Amino acid sequence: MGRLASRMADLGTETAFDVLARTRVLEAQGKRVLHLEIGEPDFPTPPHVVEAGIRALRDGATKYGPPAGLGQLREAVCERVLQDVGVRASPDEVVITPGAKPILFFAILATVGPGDEVLCPDPGFPIYESVVRFAGAKAVPVPLRPDLGYALDVDAAERLVTSKTRLIIFNSPGNPTGGMVAPRELERIGALAQRHDLWVIADEIYGRIHYEEQHTSLAALPGMRERVVLADGFSKAYAMTGWRLGYGVFPRALVEPVTRLVINSNSCTAAFVQLAGLAALRGPQEPVERMVAEYRRRRDLVVSALRATPGIRCALPQGAFYAFPDVRQLPLPASALATHLLEEHGVATLSGTAFGPGGDGHLRISYVSAPEVLEEALRRIRAAAEALVERA
Ligand code: PLP
Repeated sequence: MGRLASRMADLGTETAFDVLARTRVLEAQGKRVLHLEIGEPDFPTPPHVVEAGIRALRDGATKYGPPAGLGQLREAVCERVLQDVGVRASPDEVVITPGAKPILFFAILATVGPGDEVLCPDPGFPIYESVVRFAGAKAVPVPLRPDLGYALDVDAAERLVTSKTRLIIFNSPGNPTGGMVAPRELERIGALAQRHDLWVIADEIYGRIHYEEQHTSLAALPGMRERVVLADGFSKAYAMTGWRLGYGVFPRALVEPVTRLVINSNSCTAAFVQLAGLAALRGPQEPVERMVAEYRRRRDLVVSALRATPGIRCALPQGAFYAFPDVRQLPLPASALATHLLEEHGVATLSGTAFGPGGDGHLRISYVSAPEVLEEALRRIRAAAEALVERA
C-alpha cells in the first residue's frame, strides 16, 4: 500500500461533520437525535432561484465556463456588495468558486507558505487553522473578546505579530460565537493590518444574517480594499448549501494567482449554479429577510431557554445562527458534556473546543432547526443539566 504525503498530517477537519456521522450511526440504531450541530439552514432554497437553475440547465448551461466565473454574476456581486456594505469593486476583482470554502483555501494558499505566520481567531472556524498549516505556515491563535462582541483581541494580536506575520483571518458575524464586531473594533483591526502590512481575509459568509446591529465590512473601510479578501457566498443567506456557490472580492494583485488555483483545481464553477446565484442576487430579497426574521425568533427562544437552565450562561448572539453558551458551571468539561448530551439525551451539539482551545467551557448550538425541534432539544438539555447539578 502507498504512503500518504506528509502534508496530510497537517490537514484537519470540521468536527461538525464527524458529529453528524456519529448521529447517523445512532439514528440507524433507531434512536431519535435532535440536530443542533450543523450550520445548515433548514429552509428550502427560494423557488425563483431553483427555477432559474432548472431553466439554465434546460438552456444548455452545462459546459465549461470562464475560470473566474460568469461576467454577469461577477457584476451582480459588485452591485450587491456596493448596495449592502458599500464596498466598491469591479467585476474583474471578483472570483466565483464552488462555495466560500475554496475562497478561503485559495486565498490562504496564495498568500502564505513555510516560515509565515497567520493570526487566526480562537475560537474560530476550524478550517482556517487547518488550511494555514496545510500551506506550511504557522497558525497563531488570537483570543476573542466576549465583552466586545467576540471581536479579535487587537491588543493580544498586536503582541502576537512578528516579522513573519503575513495574514489575519477574521470572521464577523462569527462562527461559533454569533458575535458581531463593532465598527470601532474593525477599524482597529484594519489599522493593525496596515501598520504591519498584512493581508486580511474577512470571512463575511454570515454578513446577511444579523439582528440588532448592522454589519460593516472590513473591506469598506478606507484603504483596506487593497489588502482585504472579502469571502462570501450563497450557502447561508440564500439557503443554498448544497449548490456550492461562493465568491471572493479580491485585492487586484490576488485575482490572477487565485484564478490560476481555480484552473488547477476545479476549472470553473458550474454555469447553471452560477445562473441560479444570479437570480438570488438580482431577484427579490424578501426570502432572505424572512429567513433572518425567523432566525431571530429562534435565537430568542434558544437564548431564553438556555438562560433558564441551571449551570448555563448565554450571551445574546448578534448575528449568524449560533448560540455559544458558557457551561463552565456544570460539572462536566464541554467536550464530555457534548458527548453526554448526544449519547444519553439524543441532542447533538458541538463542544466549543472543536473551534480551538479558546472555545473551552462552551457549547456551540446551531439554531437552524424548526422551533418544535429546538424546544424539545432545549427541554432535554435542561433536564440533563438539572440531573448533572443534582448529582454533583
Ligand atoms: N466560513 C464560515 C465561518 C462557515 O461557518 C462556513 C460554513 O459553515 C463557511 C465559511 C463555508 O461556507 P460554504 O458553504 O460557502 O463553503
